[in-house]
Amino acid sequence: MKTTGTRSLVLWILAGGFLVGLALLLYGYVFHGGDWAIQPYNGHLVGGGQLGYAGQVLDRNGVVLAYSQDGERFYNDDQTVRQACLHAVGDTDGFISTGVQTQFRTQLSGYNFFTGLFSPTGEASGHNVTLTLDSNLQKIALEKFNGKRGAAILYNYKSGEILCMVSTPTFDPAAPPSDIDSNPQYEGVYLNRVLSSTYTPGSIFKIVTTAAALDSISGLDTRQFECNGSIIVNNSKITCLSKHGNITMQDGLAKSCNIVFAELAMELGAEKMTDMAQRMGFGQSFEIDGIPTAASFYDVSKANDNELGWSGIGQYTDMVNPCHMVILMGAIANGGTPVIPYYVQSVTGAFGFPFYRGHPSWGSELVDETLAGKLEALLRYNVTSDYGDDMFPGMNVCAKTGTAEVGGGKQPNGWIIGYSANDATPYAFAVVVEEGNYGISSAGRIASALMAAAAG
Ligand SMILES: [Zn+2]
Repeated sequence: MKTTGTRSLVLWILAGGFLVGLALLLYGYVFHGGDWAIQPYNGHLVGGGQLGYAGQVLDRNGVVLAYSQDGERFYNDDQTVRQACLHAVGDTDGFISTGVQTQFRTQLSGYNFFTGLFSPTGEASGHNVTLTLDSNLQKIALEKFNGKRGAAILYNYKSGEILCMVSTPTFDPAAPPSDIDSNPQYEGVYLNRVLSSTYTPGSIFKIVTTAAALDSISGLDTRQFECNGSIIVNNSKITCLSKHGNITMQDGLAKSCNIVFAELAMELGAEKMTDMAQRMGFGQSFEIDGIPTAASFYDVSKANDNELGWSGIGQYTDMVNPCHMVILMGAIANGGTPVIPYYVQSVTGAFGFPFYRGHPSWGSELVDETLAGKLEALLRYNVTSDYGDDMFPGMNVCAKTGTAEVGGGKQPNGWIIGYSANDATPYAFAVVVEEGNYGISSAGRIASALMAAAAG
């Protein structure tokens, strides 16, 4: 009896193991079958690759950005729209890893787990992906970049919808250039710079230094700083682009005086500066439709006073991600807590049945509410006193520009980040133009055109 009992126990264990294995296999088949069948290295099989019978990619107004016909993948008729939307839509081969044609390839291809086929009928049978982007804004942004490299994002900080997300350099997905891998013009072309790049921030980082100062130094409203064009710290100069003379922190921010913020950073010290940078999202990656953003970087753990000073004006080893910057603007606009941006509005199957819908989701607090209010007043003052409200007429825009030195004989990168404090135009933006020189004239011009177009 004893032997029989042991044998039956062994049989039960074997049978149980088989059933668990079968269940795991079935689960994997149903939920991941499409991924198994889609191999990234299979992209070139036919003209449209696995997208040859895939569904459409549309913008927020129903403009078709990509579609399939007779086994081939086609794109919008307008070359500028095709190039402007490349990094959001993706290419046919799947080299743009952040594009929806890569991220949502299974859904677009219409993988069927009963048959294991993509297109049992030979007709385009995949799901359609609708983006929150406006192809008109995309086009305007790319035209305004005028051949320069960089990144631009504009989003609705209340709903989370990204209306514009452009990265350059770019290429035409309808006719990928044959010299794409050898021509320096296309270096880093597969990268969506909005999500995956970091840049030296220059003066836009003064927002962090300002926040840290407001948080722990009193009497800043009336305090006078003195700028003679440079100071010497650790036997080395920290320079300003101008001689501002006696100046308050408020005017220092508007006129972007380096001396005010280098001195504040040194006075605050590494710990308080690091603490505020971390609170404001440095070192953190955000998820945009499942894609992790590159984390912004602030590290003064080994900095001497001179380097700490430079870090407070967005130089030294500071790096920021454009998407993080627009999230920070969205946070300040919302009283300290951001709505996380997204660009996939919906995925719909046959007969318009929705499989997925984008929706607003709150991130964690980046600035406390009182501080957000103070920062808003200062960012607003930048525009009214210095940049000029005519850049964003009637929109109550709060902003900060930056001109970031990058060395290596290159022109500085131009930056602007900001938002409209009006309920009717709840848009935040971040624009960086590589070698754009002055932020106000390079990135500012692009942000101005995008805000005007978004406001309609
Ligand atoms: Zn100065």
